[in-house]
Amino acid sequence: MGTNTELTREANVLTRFLDAGDVAALVRGVGVRQAIVQVAGCVREDFLRWHEFEKSARLASHSAVGVIELMPVSDGNRFAYKYVNGHPRNAQFALPTVMACGMLADVQTGFPLLLADLTLATALRTAATSALAAQAMARPGARTMALIGNGAQAEFQSLAFHAMAGITTIRAFDVDASATARLARNLAKVRGLEIVPVRSVRDALSGADIVTTVTADKTRATILTPEMVQPGMHLNAVGGDCPGKTELHVDILRGARLVVEYAPQSRIEGEIQQWPEAPVSELWEVLAGTAPGRAGADEVTVFDSVGFALEDYSALRWLHATACARDAGRYVELVAMPPDPRDLYGWMMQANAEAVTPRACESTTAAETTEST
Ligand code: NAD
Repeated sequence: MGTNTELTREANVLTRFLDAGDVAALVRGVGVRQAIVQVAGCVREDFLRWHEFEKSARLASHSAVGVIELMPVSDGNRFAYKYVNGHPRNAQFALPTVMACGMLADVQTGFPLLLADLTLATALRTAATSALAAQAMARPGARTMALIGNGAQAEFQSLAFHAMAGITTIRAFDVDASATARLARNLAKVRGLEIVPVRSVRDALSGADIVTTVTADKTRATILTPEMVQPGMHLNAVGGDCPGKTELHVDILRGARLVVEYAPQSRIEGEIQQWPEAPVSELWEVLAGTAPGRAGADEVTVFDSVGFALEDYSALRWLHATACARDAGRYVELVAMPPDPRDLYGWMMQANAEAVTPRACESTTAAETTEST
């Protein structure tokens, strides 16, 4: 224990910092599809050790226009948290609806190993988790997905379902036609994936095996109503993710198999806030094979996604391992590190108090790197 603590402290005197540009370069370097698949692998591994994690519903601070949330989780080895907002009207300020950053820390010492932008990582892990759920819940042979809401998350959802769930056609609809045009333009060169812009939700659902709703509006919306939903469809409901913000008519839920990430949080924030006593399975049970994702070809299935801290833990450990392997980002003296840990005052008063010389990548990283990338 003593030796480990010394080693950890010795190796981790500086915190790795990844700004948004660093994360973007890292994901481009790995390849977006590959990054989504790798993050999905981390999410699956972590959900399959569900009981090792100390979990809680996120802490949310609501306002009339949005929400700001803190999302902590720990497995006793690493602690992770994400700061994230959701402000559907942010486009008017030329700001994203969702912005995030977060940290991975060493539980043994409390030292912050990584501080990173998580806006992009949120899109990666949300898409990866949606596709993991669809692998277990959609009809085998699903090829066509309706994508309602073509904003910041849309390309990532499209690529995840193409890479992991067999989707080759996306029927895309947004109330803002320029959003759909951007989606089609951005994905025009993806081989084997066709983006078909359509003019209505009904049109988007025509022939769809999977329906992803990823709209942003702080209201009880009914993007989908029961008569639109055909037997056997899988619904990936992503945009309803806080109190008073839903996308599906409640009667769709009453006739469907429901899977959520973490029931105590989803009952507050998910589509099932409309039906608090709804019978649900949690995703980890479906991934572990202890609960079915689908019982028959005609069953309607719903993955009621709200985003859970464990997905961010998975994304953070992927980011950390990948950044260390590729030497991405830089080191910062995020927390004061006096040579004599108890002489904080003396360290501050030194005229030449300055950052410790950056050291090589954290000692724990080699193992993580081989495991995860
Ligand atoms: P965004 O603002 O970039 O895009 C939202 C898009 O939805 C916009 O293009 C908008 O025009 C469109 N839209 C709004 N109302 C619509 C309607 N009635 N029909 C069709 N299109 C409509 O937001 P984003 O970053 O893409 O996020 C989308 C939603 O997903 C948000 O509600 C966000 O909170 C949620 N989200 C959930 C998770 C999760 O883990 N479940 C993660 C990230 C984001």
